[in-house]
Amino acid sequence: MQDRWIMEEAKKLGIDAIGIISIDKLNQVYQQYQVADRFYPQHFFPQAHSVLCAALSYQYDWNQESANSIGYIARYTSANFYKFLYQKLTILGRMIKEKKGGDLSKKEFYKIFVNSRIHDKTAALATGIGSWLKNNCLSINHQGPRFVLGEILFSCQLEEFVGQPEETCVKCQLCIKSCPTQALKPYQLDKKKCLQKLTTERNWTNKEFNDYIKPNWGSRFYGCTTCIDVCPLNKKNPIKTQKENFPGWIGTKVNFDELLQVDSTQIKTYFVQNQLSASWISKESLMRNALLALYHQNRISTIKEYVEKMKYLHWNDEEIGYIKEFLSSYLNIN
Ligand code: SF4
Ligand code: SF4
Repeated sequence: MQDRWIMEEAKKLGIDAIGIISIDKLNQVYQQYQVADRFYPQHFFPQAHSVLCAALSYQYDWNQESANSIGYIARYTSANFYKFLYQKLTILGRMIKEKKGGDLSKKEFYKIFVNSRIHDKTAALATGIGSWLKNNCLSINHQGPRFVLGEILFSCQLEEFVGQPEETCVKCQLCIKSCPTQALKPYQLDKKKCLQKLTTERNWTNKEFNDYIKPNWGSRFYGCTTCIDVCPLNKKNPIKTQKENFPGWIGTKVNFDELLQVDSTQIKTYFVQNQLSASWISKESLMRNALLALYHQNRISTIKEYVEKMKYLHWNDEEIGYIKEFLSSYLNIN
């Protein structure tokens, strides 16, 4: 139990679960789940001997907003919990280096990955902190799916701590029955039908829009969390009450009237440090999402007024063309 202190320090830092396993064993689990070669840890840290997988719950009293509220933002991105976990892993990695790193530099001793190149779910399965749920997420520590995951790779051999995963949703089917687009089968997700996936896509096909998006979008702004929200295992996950200084905090609702006043050059700054400012989500897709929500609130004149003033908010011709095309082809607004 020479490395038990790592678990205790992680807990003090507010990390909700950690497991540690050798890279060889992690690779075996990668093989078992046929994870693509590009995700293997040796590609990013060739000297890796051990992996620490960590999970952080994002279930707070301030992000329990109903998913039907106007301007709803998926609660997992109500702050940048990935960055929050990264900050905690940075402190933990430094502590471990101080005790076990000897003369090695930080670069030689460890490397942190959060929501990046390591296959997070497989690392959580391998370390036994996670088990598969029918909604295609992992339950962490048997407390349901509201967690983000990250890893630290170490060049030293750490003592292993492997949890005991168990089948957690044998009889329940709630997530499958609740999915508005029937995108879920047990342990299988059809991404083409999933609103969460579609919310970030710049272009929607007619089928995607007519069959999945239009009937179910309502007044949301970003994402879908229904299959996570209905999971009864969330009740086992304590609701946190801390009011910490969260990086990228945006809350669970956007104020559409405020957003419509923002200059196009400032849209990403409006969501700064949050995943919504990531390069792979275009600002015009975000504005399209907002206009679709306004359409469902029957605010057609607001939409028309906005289009009129887009050029004064420094949207370029291509972006204005994209919005106009969406409004006319899908919503019949000219
Ligand atoms: S995120 Fe929404 S659309 Fe996607 S599978 Fe879950 S409930 Fe269905
Ligand atoms: S809602 Fe039920 S079936 Fe779905 S993940 Fe949760 S426990 Fe499993």
